[in-house]
Amino acid sequence: MDFTLSSDQLSIKEIVEEFTKREVEPNAEKIEREPAMVKDILSKMGKLGLLGITIPERFGGSGLDYLTFGVIVEEIAYHSASLALSYGGHSNLVLDNIYRNGTEEQREEFARKLAQGEWIGSLCLTEPGAGSDAIGGMTTSYRKNGNSFIINGSKMFITNAPIADVFLVYARESSNYSAFILKREDGVETPGSIDKMGMRGSPTGEVVFHDIEIGKDRLLGGEGGGKKVIYQGLNAERATMAFLPLGIARRAMDEAVTYAKKRKQFGKPISEYQLIQEKIAYMFTRLEAARLLAYKAVILAQDKISDPKYAAASIMLASETAIQIAKDAVQIFGGYGYTTEFPVERLLRDSVIGEIAAGTTEIRKLVIARSVIDSYKG
Ligand SMILES: Cc1cc2nc3c(=O)[nH]c(=O)nc-3n(C[C@H](O)[C@H](O)[C@H](O)COP(=O)(O)OP(=O)(O)OC[C@H]3O[C@@H](n4cnc5c(N)ncnc54)[C@H](O)[C@@H]3O)c2cc1C
Repeated sequence: MDFTLSSDQLSIKEIVEEFTKREVEPNAEKIEREPAMVKDILSKMGKLGLLGITIPERFGGSGLDYLTFGVIVEEIAYHSASLALSYGGHSNLVLDNIYRNGTEEQREEFARKLAQGEWIGSLCLTEPGAGSDAIGGMTTSYRKNGNSFIINGSKMFITNAPIADVFLVYARESSNYSAFILKREDGVETPGSIDKMGMRGSPTGEVVFHDIEIGKDRLLGGEGGGKKVIYQGLNAERATMAFLPLGIARRAMDEAVTYAKKRKQFGKPISEYQLIQEKIAYMFTRLEAARLLAYKAVILAQDKISDPKYAAASIMLASETAIQIAKDAVQIFGGYGYTTEFPVERLLRDSVIGEIAAGTTEIRKLVIARSVIDSYKG
């Protein structure tokens, strides 16, 4: 497995580094207070060709792979985890999903505008009463009405909902599940934003559908194809979004080591004390191990190797790693780490989502264990 980045991958990484240093880093705290800013930043990224990394150039994308996308997510998360969450929600969960499962007409109608940042997307699976049991517990419904479909229900904790123009919505009719592409103008309602512990700069909200009528041209993956779209999407989401906690972890480590070399106690920099060095040694080791698994899982997801345990293990390890490294970074900063003067408290708050969204850590463990057990014959 070759993890070397090609010249195309490196040049897009450079564009992202330049963009995030200029547009994101100086605004990281402002984004926290004004999540609506994310819409403007995403639209600027669209103009630079950064939203459609994994879709072909003829639809306004760059035609690159999930690894490149992951590397970009890590880079954005290094500067603003909130922006990385909204970016992933838009570019992978919606745009890449529509490209993967859409008809040529749907790609023409939706992919280009999403890739250029003219439209912002949000993916609607979770419901107020159906999180981990998103499929079995789903109550958002559709019914046929001649040549059209009528959708009713509501979704919860939806990334980008308050700023979105396009909603990829899962609904059921009895035991049949289907995915639909809705536009805000179809009558989708997004009542308010949800105030959160972390990822405060990424707008999250509820989405409500009251008798929304749409044509069959808005079915994604065919009628009854919803489960396939969900499972494939979750695998791609877990494999690529594992890079978000890696960005948080790398930033926390950089902040902590830099601080430890400057901060003096008992007449020496605290980096010279072995209990601090132990934390730094673990930071490095955990981050490197998590990144190697993330690279492997994302390459397998790209090759459409459907075994879900790699993506689940990758995002699980990356998320645990980010939480541990961010927590150790706060500890290295001591009292200052507990204040809002330094970014490590934000990194710790932001890291916690890694164990919740895209299926919780507990659900990932079930996915990994089932897949491992099934792989043993007899
Ligand atoms: C900031 C944020 C952004 C999000 N973005 C999106 C989005 O864009 N689109 C979207 O559709 N959803 C999104 N989500 C929703 C997220 O995917 C769900 O919150 C998550 O799947 C968990 O569902 P729940 O919150 O209902 O928790 P629950 O399912 O109620 O789980 C509660 C606890 O019980 C545990 N649990 C549940 N079942 C089991 C079991 N069988 N065995 C052991 N433990 C179990 C869980 O692991 C968890 O610890 C987002 C959530 C947040 C917080």
